[in-house]
Amino acid sequence: MSIIPNSTQILVIGGGPAGSTAATLLARQGFNVTLLERDVFPRYHIGESLLPSALQIFDLLGVREKIEAQGFQRKPGVYLQWRSEQWTLNFGEINGNDTYTFQVDRAQFDHLLLEHAKSEGVQVFEGVEVRNISFINDRPTSVTWGQKVGGDETGKISFDFLLDASGRAGIMSNRYLHNRREHNAFQNIAIWGYWKDAKRQPANFEGDFEGALTMGTIPEGWLWAIPLANGKTSVGVVMHKSLYKEKRPTSIPDIYSEAIANCPVIAEMVASGELVSKVQVEQDYSYTADNFSGPGYYLLGDAACFLDPLLSSGVHLATYSALLAAASISSILRGEVDQEQAATFFEKSYRQAYLRFMVFVASFYDKNHTTKNFFSEAEKLTCHDVKASDLKQAFLNLVSGKEDLDDAQDAISGLVLKEMSQKLEENLRLRKDKHLLATSREQNEKITEKNGQFFEAIEGFFSLSAAGAVDGLYVVTEPKLGLVQVSVTAQ
Ligand SMILES: Cc1cc2nc3c(=O)[nH]c(=O)nc-3n(C[C@H](O)[C@H](O)[C@H](O)COP(=O)(O)OP(=O)(O)OC[C@H]3O[C@@H](n4cnc5c(N)ncnc54)[C@H](O)[C@@H]3O)c2cc1C
Repeated sequence: MSIIPNSTQILVIGGGPAGSTAATLLARQGFNVTLLERDVFPRYHIGESLLPSALQIFDLLGVREKIEAQGFQRKPGVYLQWRSEQWTLNFGEINGNDTYTFQVDRAQFDHLLLEHAKSEGVQVFEGVEVRNISFINDRPTSVTWGQKVGGDETGKISFDFLLDASGRAGIMSNRYLHNRREHNAFQNIAIWGYWKDAKRQPANFEGDFEGALTMGTIPEGWLWAIPLANGKTSVGVVMHKSLYKEKRPTSIPDIYSEAIANCPVIAEMVASGELVSKVQVEQDYSYTADNFSGPGYYLLGDAACFLDPLLSSGVHLATYSALLAAASISSILRGEVDQEQAATFFEKSYRQAYLRFMVFVASFYDKNHTTKNFFSEAEKLTCHDVKASDLKQAFLNLVSGKEDLDDAQDAISGLVLKEMSQKLEENLRLRKDKHLLATSREQNEKITEKNGQFFEAIEGFFSLSAAGAVDGLYVVTEPKLGLVQVSVTAQ
């Protein structure tokens, strides 16, 4: 192992998508960045299905060509059989260039991003675990580390800024801030395995949609099928922990097989395939830390918050939070904004991005539920999980232009979900109309435009334009990555 320095400007804990993205962006701005990763890459990780927004991040990182050359499965969209509804989200309908994305083997993908970070000047040390963090007042100033692989060296490194990208381990939040809260809603269990030679798209789908994410439902929850490269497919089921516990006398592989058998769209896809891995299980409860940033530190990706995997939002949120933090720290270090201002900007922007997805997930789970099964999840999303004012803001961002929602504390989550469910219904109807009614080109164009806006509302990069400014600040990527005041640029 080459020698870990005693000090660095920015220390990043964890080399997943959040850590490697933030580290690369900061190194590209000329800052001194050290990243400590507990494992030696490539290492296995769940979370293979990306969103189209990933392409913008790849461009910013300068890694797009390497990703395109890697041979990952292209993902043209999503096909859902959500209870009695069928729904196709075709990324080809998005305005602009990001009209596809990838299904990735995370071991390869995360490795590629981490190697890219090294090539951009980040000092990366793998097999090195951060063990303890020291603070002066409330500001983290150094960590002690220990070698986990290839030796037993230990040491200490001090820094000006700390980015905690340690994933679900969440060292800052769990060990020091004690501010992680699990949501009452979305207390789910995921069970999954890998298949070879499964079908690459649903059997009943007319047309070419190879590589799309397919989702189907059963009364206890929902299933995914993610076609990966080399004829491999990830197939998983998500169900509420209480339903899982009820079933638990049955073995985990049997619960898994039964779920697939009860979901025709997925069962048909794997009928021709063979399960080639062990069946894995993980609790995937949704949680958020009460604060995502503080003096000299930022919590990125899963280290700050985690959302049910329904919308494949994990890598998006990880890399988006990395971008927000990198822009914030860049501007602080260049003396363009003060630390408190930047921390507030990061906190609000990341929380809003998270909540937009959460409202959307909740409204999905809310659709047509009966009280006794999995789909009553959204009812449990209460003001204990999320501040009413934050939820309201998330919703306003989603349905831009709509104002004056009643923000009475008790009513807000129900109201937001109701409105969001209506939005979903409206979009679903449009999609149906497209097949049944759209006879003219004009009509088709209008529907396509609406669909484009719908995608944008969910996964758009909001704080990246003056119009999406948070407290008067937004991120610019040219000529330098940083934060800009709206009033300054408007002059
Ligand atoms: C069942 C399930 C399905 C999912 N499906 C999807 C999907 O389809 N698409 C999607 O986008 N997301 C999905 N996700 C979410 C996705 O896996 C995560 O959101 C994403 O990996 C978060 O990235 P990250 O960089 O924050 O954390 P991670 O990718 O977890 O990286 C954190 C890194 O920190 C390192 N680390 C931890 N502690 C220390 C320490 N003390 N010192 C040094 N290093 C440390 C770890 O070794 C790890 O490499 C899914 C999640 C689950 C549970």
